[in-house]
Amino acid sequence: LEGHPRLPEWITKERVKLGDLHGMKRGLRDSHLHTVCEEARCPNRTHCFTHGTATFLLMGEVCTRACGFCSIQSGKPRALDAQEPLETAERVAALGLRFAVLTSVNRDDLPDGGAAHFAETVLAIRRRNPGVGVEVLVPDFLGDLEAVARVVAAGPAVFNHNTETVPSLYPEVRPAGRFERSLRVLAHAKELGTALYGTAFRTKSGLMLGLGETEAELMTTFEALAKAQVDILTLGQYLRPTRHQLPVKRYVHPDEFADLGAKAKAFGFATVYAGPLVRSSFNAHEVAELEGIS
Ligand code: SF4
Ligand code: SF4
Repeated sequence: LEGHPRLPEWITKERVKLGDLHGMKRGLRDSHLHTVCEEARCPNRTHCFTHGTATFLLMGEVCTRACGFCSIQSGKPRALDAQEPLETAERVAALGLRFAVLTSVNRDDLPDGGAAHFAETVLAIRRRNPGVGVEVLVPDFLGDLEAVARVVAAGPAVFNHNTETVPSLYPEVRPAGRFERSLRVLAHAKELGTALYGTAFRTKSGLMLGLGETEAELMTTFEALAKAQVDILTLGQYLRPTRHQLPVKRYVHPDEFADLGAKAKAFGFATVYAGPLVRSSFNAHEVAELEGIS
């Protein structure tokens, strides 16, 4: 294993108990829509599915970027599927979801980065499923603030954009990303969302730990995200999807996650989720309940 640390027991002991979730799983597989939950074999499926949450991957499975941590194929994506917004709304209804998370590959090939498609999907879900909360986990739209505005105007309960890691690791982890650009996207979404919906609107961001970041760098990053008025922060362990992605530098102990979570909270976030298996959309339904936004 070339000196790479082994998976620690606090990760391997988590079992995915999907036996009692056949209906939901079949429902997801029967459609040609893609959920991140199934495709990434996310360890939180039992938890999320039993709470009526799933994450849909919009705009295809080919990404215009190639982040060092991600196993999604990069290349030239296909044209958008105009039916996808309505089909996603129908699928949310058929699955009886209470909270839907929408994410996508990066679509730097589209003039608006896919913002209109995101907005249409949010609107379609809200029309078809009154009372169902929607979280969008969006790319940076190359910093296009009009694209951000378009998505916010569709009325998601939560606007999520992950900075993923500390700025010094961007060249390896998010080579086509820019930390400051991501901060501007988050700050702009918060400003617009608050103007439109008041304090019920939430912004969210997340980082993966174990890629080589230092604690000092994490503190600076937390501070910057708090200054950008991010409400909810998620901190989880980076797990290498295949051997083609960046190696894990370190497995962060659950106690250290708890400690970092408490330190992050002190910067002023409303909610911080920190733990080895915390994923960006993990607990989306709980956040919604806690914050009264679904
Ligand atoms: Fe799906 Fe996200 Fe839950 Fe994983 S954490 S099962 S990707 S909703
Ligand atoms: Fe993966 Fe998103 Fe990076 Fe594309 S932009 S390679 S989907 S993490």
